Amino acid sequence: MNANSFATKRKRGGNAAAMKRLILILSGAAAALIVAAAAILWFSPSVQDAVFARMVRAHLGTGHALPDPQRASACTAVIAGDHMILIDAGAGSTLRLSEMRLPLAKMDAVFLTHLHSDHLGDLGNTALQGWLDGRKTALEIFGPVGTANVVAGYSAVFQADAGYRIAHHGAANLPPDGSKLMAHEIATPGPHEAVKVYDRDGMTVEAFLVDHHPVAPAFGYRVSYKGRVVVLSGDTRPNANVEHFAQGADLLIHEALNKSMVAMLSDGLNENGIHRLGQMMHDTISYHTSPVDAAKIARKANVRMLVFSHVVPPMPNALTRHIFMRGVAAAAGPVRTMLGHDGQLLTLPVGSKEIETRDLL
Ligand SMILES: [Zn+2]
Ligand SMILES: [Zn+2]
Repeated sequence: MNANSFATKRKRGGNAAAMKRLILILSGAAAALIVAAAAILWFSPSVQDAVFARMVRAHLGTGHALPDPQRASACTAVIAGDHMILIDAGAGSTLRLSEMRLPLAKMDAVFLTHLHSDHLGDLGNTALQGWLDGRKTALEIFGPVGTANVVAGYSAVFQADAGYRIAHHGAANLPPDGSKLMAHEIATPGPHEAVKVYDRDGMTVEAFLVDHHPVAPAFGYRVSYKGRVVVLSGDTRPNANVEHFAQGADLLIHEALNKSMVAMLSDGLNENGIHRLGQMMHDTISYHTSPVDAAKIARKANVRMLVFSHVVPPMPNALTRHIFMRGVAAAAGPVRTMLGHDGQLLTLPVGSKEIETRDLL
């Protein structure tokens, strides 16, 4: 803008040299102000909160508080040897899995942490895509009591579609068994117990209870393969089982909700007279874990790395991500921490302690 106004004014003639000097000084001053503002923003929590609160108000009225189109709902794929499994299949996850070019035909099981819709909304599409990509057998769905109902529902919804496709492409290309879902309801583990629910070619999955009351049972999962261990918290309040079963794990993938940010969103809704949504927003605070509490759990569990997934609220820019992670590094101590994002690939080579990170999107 400065360059344009300079060119315009120089064409007009007059005191061009003086004008140029003035504009350059202004440009320099503006740049300094921007840097200073960014520095204040980055290091002052109160200024960050004020800016965030302003953003909250600016976004109200559109029906979406701080929308974040960058994130699909809950879904983590684990690939080990010749098997691929999913932990949860929330809305949008099938598209992401396809975009990442993951080997969906090798996906033989999905593990639901609990039956909230943001963890299973894409189950039908995920199963369908794996079949289209070449899975010949039923997709096995493991989860808490009630999983059989979910599976029966999705089977009914996709039944006609499967019939059309088999009729169109032939059973040789689309073996009918591959279109099916098979439910395995996991017997609820004892309070301090992990039950092995999957053991194939060296990959094991154990389920343990977490606390997402009133959603019960809700599970965390511990996935092992040839000495490498990944633990997923599922949705939970800070929970001793996560710390216990993540003890010494390579990687802890923990949910996180930043309570002060969500409280600000709730306040913003209330101040705008949207009390019902304000209350519901506030309700979510009680059954999740703050990033700092998750970092403390990761540190006590002596994990190598903590990755936040299933993060709330949406974080559309660097400032909100910065606020979200406030205090995490201090609480985590020696544990490496990372705010997860869609398309992220974490590789744990067998026979090493390394964790490599890469983006596939
Ligand atoms: Zn939930
Ligand atoms: Zn959830």
